[in-house]
Amino acid sequence: MAKLPGPLEIYPLLPGTNCKECGEANCMAFATKMAEHTVKLEACEPLFKESKYAKKLGKLKELVRPPVREVLIGTGEMAATIGGKLVLYRHDLRYSNPTAFFIDIPDNLESDAFASRVKAIEDWTYVYIGTNLRLDGVALRGVSQDPKTFATAAKKLTELTNWPIMLCSLNPEMLATAAKAIADKRPLLYAATLDTWAEVGEIAAKHNLPLVAYAPGSLENLSSLVNTLRAIGVEDIVIDPGTLSTTGLGTTVDDFTQIRRSAINEDNELLGYPTLATPIAAWADHREGEAPELTKWNEVITASALIVRYADLVVLHSLDMWTNLPITFLRSNLYTDPVKPVAVEAGLMEFGEVGPDAPVMYTTNFALTYFTVESDIKQSASNTYLMVIDTEGMSVQSAVAGRKLTAEKIAEALEEYKVAEKVNHKILISPGMAARLSGETEEATGWTVKVGPQDSSGIGKYLQEEKWKEE
Ligand code: SF4
Repeated sequence: MAKLPGPLEIYPLLPGTNCKECGEANCMAFATKMAEHTVKLEACEPLFKESKYAKKLGKLKELVRPPVREVLIGTGEMAATIGGKLVLYRHDLRYSNPTAFFIDIPDNLESDAFASRVKAIEDWTYVYIGTNLRLDGVALRGVSQDPKTFATAAKKLTELTNWPIMLCSLNPEMLATAAKAIADKRPLLYAATLDTWAEVGEIAAKHNLPLVAYAPGSLENLSSLVNTLRAIGVEDIVIDPGTLSTTGLGTTVDDFTQIRRSAINEDNELLGYPTLATPIAAWADHREGEAPELTKWNEVITASALIVRYADLVVLHSLDMWTNLPITFLRSNLYTDPVKPVAVEAGLMEFGEVGPDAPVMYTTNFALTYFTVESDIKQSASNTYLMVIDTEGMSVQSAVAGRKLTAEKIAEALEEYKVAEKVNHKILISPGMAARLSGETEEATGWTVKVGPQDSSGIGKYLQEEKWKEE
């Protein structure tokens, strides 16, 4: 693994004035957070504003440069940042910048169908543990082979969406016309090849746009192409070693793995760029008469294998819930911080029209537990208070075992959220998994504890039948 700089290497390159503009107590605290990759260099504004720090800034940028560079596609709040990877294995630190999913759209689609597909791409969403899983961008394919049609479609796309755009054509003239039309939206250009690098590289350099280097079948050729593009002034590069679906998938997985190992373990700068995979290639293998579901299945398998094997951007065709749900789940799980449980904020939640006779339940702030309980309460349509206790993101069972959920914590939460002032009873419903805390909780709080269902799926019935009121 490439050595990541520590605070003592970073600190001497900071201004050293302890001005606190970054929000930290001093420069050493900032250096420590930079070493942990929990703050960005840009947060130290004096470094960028004052010319006397220019030399230090240059050195610092090089020092903290991730082995896989970051590339920004698009503009504004929907822009996608890809790459920026620091480690090969997630457990060594964490993965940053989740794989971006771009969905294709042909440039020759009839106007209404074009607009509908853009809307469908934007609307694809699924709520998972409190976050909206969604797609990230649109890949405009120059199927028409006509530069004017391609540029018009690109322009139209910018009117329909503010999502990041990828312009896909191996014809330099097509790319030149479309890039010129929407350069201010910072599209990703796809692609420069061994044959077209000079023309396409010039377009990217001229408009300062990110560019894909595409050299399938040879990592040596890919490295050489990247080197050439860098030499002619292209700064933001994304690399595509080619994607083979179905029978060639093993080779593709090997290529992607080798690229990332070389970038991170050997600090190979020429392969230290975000990678692009095209599971959409599964459709090129689609045979007439074959069920489309089979091709979609191949596309999902290809995408899954390459998301796990370091793809920073994938281009897909399928837009079904069943095809994109597994891969967005996979991405979500892969990109969570392995040392930080997914937690929600502690507090007193209110569901429905809560009054003084509303039941009071409690749970922990582990996100998966919370959202499951929340969903079950909502489905029961009961007017309920839910006290969410900070257990550092642990589930009920683990928090009880690890003493993160105790009678004292429950008493403190009741006090902090002034629950006794909101209801006319002193009955607290505990999760079934925390039943063993009942006695000590009654002692610590003076409330009567009623043990709720073991499984949250029983909450609805429990509340509807007002079981907590039974003697
Ligand atoms: S803003 Fe920069 S100079 Fe000021 S305390 Fe933070 S790191 Fe130091």
